[in-house]
Amino acid sequence: MEQLPNFLNQRAFLTPNRLALVFDNQRWSFMEMYRTVETLAQKIATLGIQAKDSVAILLTNRPHTVFIIHALQQLGVSAVFLNHRLTAKEMVFQLKDSGTRLLISEDAFKEKMNGIKGLFHELPMTTIVEIDHLETKKVPLVNEFVLDEVCSIMYTSGTTGNPKGVLQSYGNHWWSAVGSALNLGLTEKDGWLCAVPLFHISGLSILMRSVIYGMPVYLYEEFNEKTINQVLQAGEVTIMSVVSTMLIRMIDDLGDKRYHSNFRCMLLGGGPAPKPLLDACLEKNIPVFQSYGMTETSSQIVTLAPEDSIVKLGSAGKPLFPSQLKIMNNQMQLLPNQPGEIVVKGPNVTKGYLNRDEANKKNFKDGWFYTGDIGYVDEDGYLFVMDRRSDLIISGGENIYPAEIEEVLLSHSSVKEAGVVGIEHTQWGQVPYAFVVVSELVDEANLINYCKDKLAKFKIPHHIYIVNELPRNASNKLLRRKLHELMPKG
Ligand code: ATP
Ligand code: MG
Repeated sequence: MEQLPNFLNQRAFLTPNRLALVFDNQRWSFMEMYRTVETLAQKIATLGIQAKDSVAILLTNRPHTVFIIHALQQLGVSAVFLNHRLTAKEMVFQLKDSGTRLLISEDAFKEKMNGIKGLFHELPMTTIVEIDHLETKKVPLVNEFVLDEVCSIMYTSGTTGNPKGVLQSYGNHWWSAVGSALNLGLTEKDGWLCAVPLFHISGLSILMRSVIYGMPVYLYEEFNEKTINQVLQAGEVTIMSVVSTMLIRMIDDLGDKRYHSNFRCMLLGGGPAPKPLLDACLEKNIPVFQSYGMTETSSQIVTLAPEDSIVKLGSAGKPLFPSQLKIMNNQMQLLPNQPGEIVVKGPNVTKGYLNRDEANKKNFKDGWFYTGDIGYVDEDGYLFVMDRRSDLIISGGENIYPAEIEEVLLSHSSVKEAGVVGIEHTQWGQVPYAFVVVSELVDEANLINYCKDKLAKFKIPHHIYIVNELPRNASNKLLRRKLHELMPKG
């Protein structure tokens, strides 16, 4: 089994004085971080936690979370990352499913902890303050990371069904970081801003890159576009990870100002990127790297560089160097421009889901992972992601991708949010219905007319309902499978 030196340990040895973490006005070098982490690991060890145990964390985006994550790695423990927007019941499912031995949380989540206690009273719990008060125990810390071993267990967002526990190994994180650096490049000036949650792979992958690259993380507890825009104008941060809702708010706030010339990469992922947003970034000279990835690929697996973004507008790019991709339908590899399931392979891709034999059998074949997303590659090998297979609408034999209709609706000046779903229809099998949240009064006929200019007839929603909000999951992703519940009764 392949091994590498313990990442943080090696980093603190190689470049002890380099900046590791910045939060508010506090700064830690890699050596300072290592010492803090070492003490924490020795305290957690007094709770009877051993290598290969699963320990869950329910924590905010603050420095102590970074230290706890590294401390668990020093003990060889698999960390289970809880999204704090989940209900206590949803968390208990993940805690039981992952065989968690201990939950580490903090006072900010007292209510959630009480909720969990009520449903799962046998589970030992502690807080970061309690851990801080513990004595230390001299235990051997991990010298080497075995690339095959599970570093983190992270549940998928639950957009298409119940969340599944993804096993992310040290090797997955290592190759994800290497693949990203081979594509984006790396300089000693780099600093990565993290205002995405640490419990998502978007956040955790920044921490892993930080120790592997020797690069500082600028950590933010909350996303505030004004603060972040100021930071990006100052010149210390060179890379930032965003989802499109964050970038939209940043652009609105930025006005005529521009980011510092040191800022070289806005890594955009997590979902589709609306074209008007990409146009606005182009106009403001923001170097957007569109990307495609998922919990199962330990962050981006396909990325588009800005120099391609004009000619390949809307594409998610090409695979990272260690990864491959193909488009499949009925066990046949499709030709360019033919839409089918996106299938990926690479050392950053998970070995599988925890306790999900059926999903593992269905999604992993011959070393390839079937993503459940539909897309195509063009003649030059650029990927265009269309939608999720489970949300595809088939109407009179024609395939309709809800995302395409949503994008048209979103380009209407009064539409803030849009969701499209297939509804049973006697003649056509299914027809698209839309649900929108609007910023000003607009009637259904106006919206339908707007679509008529831009969409083929069979794609025009049969009804467009104006609603107060759309159903979303704890990651703020649209739950199309729940849209039909918004239909007026009768
Ligand atoms: P679940 O698997 O539980 O249904 P989820 O797939 O939403 O939840 P994540 O792993 O957080 O969980 O999200 C990954 C998914 O996000 C991808 O499979 C894809 O559907 C979508 N996605 C990511 N990047 C893009 C992109 N560039 N364009 C379109 N969709 C994207
Ligand atoms: Mg998924």
